Amino acid sequence: METNRRKFLGQFGAGVGALSMLGSLDTYALPENTKKLGIALVGLGSYSEFQLAPALQQTKLCQLTGIVTGTPAKVDKWVSKFKIDKKNVYTYENFDKIKDNENIDIVYVVLPNSMHHEFTIRALKAGKHVICEKPMANTVKECEEMIATAKQVGKQLSVGYRLHFDPYHLEIRRLTAEKTYGNLMHIEANFGFGIGDPTQWRLNKKLAGGGPLMDVGIYAIQATRYGSGLEPLAVTAQQFKTGNPKFKEVEETLLFQLEYPNGLVANCATSYAFYIEKLKIYAEKGFYELSPAYGYGGFKGRTSEKEISYPAFNQQAAQMDGFADCLIQNKPTKVGGSEGLQDMKIIEAIYKAMETGQKVEIK
Ligand code: NDP
Repeated sequence: METNRRKFLGQFGAGVGALSMLGSLDTYALPENTKKLGIALVGLGSYSEFQLAPALQQTKLCQLTGIVTGTPAKVDKWVSKFKIDKKNVYTYENFDKIKDNENIDIVYVVLPNSMHHEFTIRALKAGKHVICEKPMANTVKECEEMIATAKQVGKQLSVGYRLHFDPYHLEIRRLTAEKTYGNLMHIEANFGFGIGDPTQWRLNKKLAGGGPLMDVGIYAIQATRYGSGLEPLAVTAQQFKTGNPKFKEVEETLLFQLEYPNGLVANCATSYAFYIEKLKIYAEKGFYELSPAYGYGGFKGRTSEKEISYPAFNQQAAQMDGFADCLIQNKPTKVGGSEGLQDMKIIEAIYKAMETGQKVEIK
């Protein structure tokens, strides 16, 4: 199936007629005699409710058919709002029975980070393909086990990196790949926000695995990797605390420097204390940047010559249709488990550098 969308991305990737082709962004078409793939969301928190479920009303190749929740009070609202058959509703306890449900092809794990490993493995063992939210898990070892299980059961595993499908981020990759401004000299990548409720799981080390680095700093890591087309070799890192008791378990503000090949350095910051959001790539003959850079839209982009601008775009719909498209065509997903594993290797190196004050090699 050659979709218009893929044609668009191909031409976009080649830098030809990108803006004029944007009209066809959402034109995935279901091949004849093919049913939309069914997706079950696991964990009905804010990302599921306000981003993924609404995006699944726009997808062309997949649809919301199931939910998995630990909060019975949420069920009626979800069932009626999203027209979900009650026989496709599961709890965390009876979740494994999903293996007998033919209306669910893909399980999308949208739980606190520490639960990603368990529910991804249970879903794979139930014979389902899986999208797991970022960060893929809390440790490298867990990521490796998730990848090994997917291989063992012959199912696809993807990570919820929506920016791999966003036109602004695809343009950043194109400018680097085509060396539009020559070789890269320096990268700045920052993402942080002031966190609210002190009782939330994101501030609990056991549930979150870490602080802003695991939650939003991971976007900065991702952007320096695909923005450079390279992998980092080593890292140094420093944490800063104001003394706010909210941050007794996890880091508050973290600066880190990723050393890439050929003397390229990415200077990065992440924080739960203040808002910061930028990706800027400096090359020999110019620069290109996005700020804001990592949200669900509303990006502002420019190069040293001109503005980068695209119409509103649903990243999550594109991400889920992109995964469904690979399944329908029996092709490997564009954003596989190895992408999440690599980020976790970098994150573990950053935390080690932060704790020891030493430069840490990334292997
Ligand atoms: P929320 O806190 O809003 O929701 C998490 C949900 O998980 C809860 O509503 C609950 O659902 C379920 N849950 C099960 N056990 C627990 C527990 N012990 N504590 C808290 N919740 C529990 O989180 P988000 O939706 O913001 O984040 C979920 C995941 O999605 C995270 O991994 C996060 O990193 C990722 N995310 C990704 C984004 C992206 O842009 N790709 C954006 C936002 C989040 P229920 O009541 O149904 O059981």
